[in-house]
Amino acid sequence: MLKRVSLWLALSTVLSGLATAADYSEFTVPGLAKGQITHGDIAPLIHYYQQQDWLEVTELGRSVEQRPIYLIKIGQGERKVLAWSQMHGDEPTATAALFDLLAVLQAQQQTDSTQASPAWLDNISLYLIPMLNPDGAERNSRFNALGIDVNRDALALQTPEGQLLMQAAKQIKPHYGFNLHDQNRYHGAGDSKKPATISLLAPAYNEAREINPSRHAAMQLISAVKPMLDKALPQQLGRYDDEYSIRSFGDTFSAMGISTVLVESGGQYNDRFRQQARQLNLQLYLSWLAMISNGSYRDYDLSGYNSIPMNNSNGMKDLIISDVTLQRADGSGPLAKVDLAFTAGGNGRGPVVLNEIGDASIYGGYHSLDASGMVYSAGKAYPLTGPLNLSAERYVQLLAEGYSHFSGEARLLTNNSGLPVAINPRGVNTLWPQRQLSTTFLLTLEGAVQWAVINGRLIRLADASLVDAYSGN
Ligand SMILES: [Zn+2]
Repeated sequence: MLKRVSLWLALSTVLSGLATAADYSEFTVPGLAKGQITHGDIAPLIHYYQQQDWLEVTELGRSVEQRPIYLIKIGQGERKVLAWSQMHGDEPTATAALFDLLAVLQAQQQTDSTQASPAWLDNISLYLIPMLNPDGAERNSRFNALGIDVNRDALALQTPEGQLLMQAAKQIKPHYGFNLHDQNRYHGAGDSKKPATISLLAPAYNEAREINPSRHAAMQLISAVKPMLDKALPQQLGRYDDEYSIRSFGDTFSAMGISTVLVESGGQYNDRFRQQARQLNLQLYLSWLAMISNGSYRDYDLSGYNSIPMNNSNGMKDLIISDVTLQRADGSGPLAKVDLAFTAGGNGRGPVVLNEIGDASIYGGYHSLDASGMVYSAGKAYPLTGPLNLSAERYVQLLAEGYSHFSGEARLLTNNSGLPVAINPRGVNTLWPQRQLSTTFLLTLEGAVQWAVINGRLIRLADASLVDAYSGN
């Protein structure tokens, strides 16, 4: 009973838009806070909702590899909304948020309280396609099993996934579309030097990027939620590029008269699995559904939309080491002070790359190290001449002695240090760092090694700790 009361209270605040993060967390579906969400993750949830009588779950069709793609229908109202997620298989944040939305609606069914009932259910028919591209999800890939970008298939319609989405849109004839994606975490919000944790767009329907009534309505929907997002995410809301993309579904649906909003979930500090963006997605869906139902978004002009700073696609770096001193070739003193900016490819899963040397002050960094007074040193090679069992203590000792990497046969080294090691790395043994190459070096202060950067990973010698700057998603 207590659980029921707390659920009802949380539900009331969530539906009134006055909720706290704790209220929303009541509806956070367990098991989906991770970087890859596959069909296997959502199958039990789909199965559960197939048993409920307040919504309809049907199989819309199958992917290339015969994984089911589902359509969920809620409500019988006149205003039709179609939302689809994960058409890019490696963009799972909104899929989790759609199931959180179902958890809110399920709670509303269970409390059977008219006070907690979202009034919009009377006016709206809501259609959800969670995970349009389950084959890509299985591979953690953007593309479908044929290697096709489903979101460039809106005209050619060669993928079963794209065909199913188009067929659903033509049969349902939605008035509104929620096109739900993730963007890579290097997108910044304007020149704020902060990540664009949410980016929004009312996609263009022609090359001239004109505004017709349906695009106007999508822009109003975005204007209407801007105050909420500005509060939740100061300087971290971006506007996605509205260049017309004739092959994309958002643009094509926009041309079909569907008021389409694009939601891109992006990076956030210390939020590896984008749980804040997930919660904000839920808030966006609830806000939009309420405002579509009562038409209140029409009170907004386009000034809110137009004032959202544009996405800066190269605004963020994973790690910025600032003010590193480079020595003269003859060792006679300092030559230059530079910033070193790093990213990890594959959205944090790939190798670390040094992609800028020089003034990195225009970028924001997920992690930063102030190296004022510290001198760059490539470090020496420690030759592997026999078997070496490397403890953390011994490793830190070697780093302190000026060794940054090992040379020789990798099999001779058993690394028990719990820290990264570099064996025969490329791009070392140069006096100055090299773009695209130097990710293994030492930083010294008055001759003493303070930090070792090993394959782009930061080791602090004082406590032999690893600062992993690349765990983002
Ligand atoms: Zn996408």
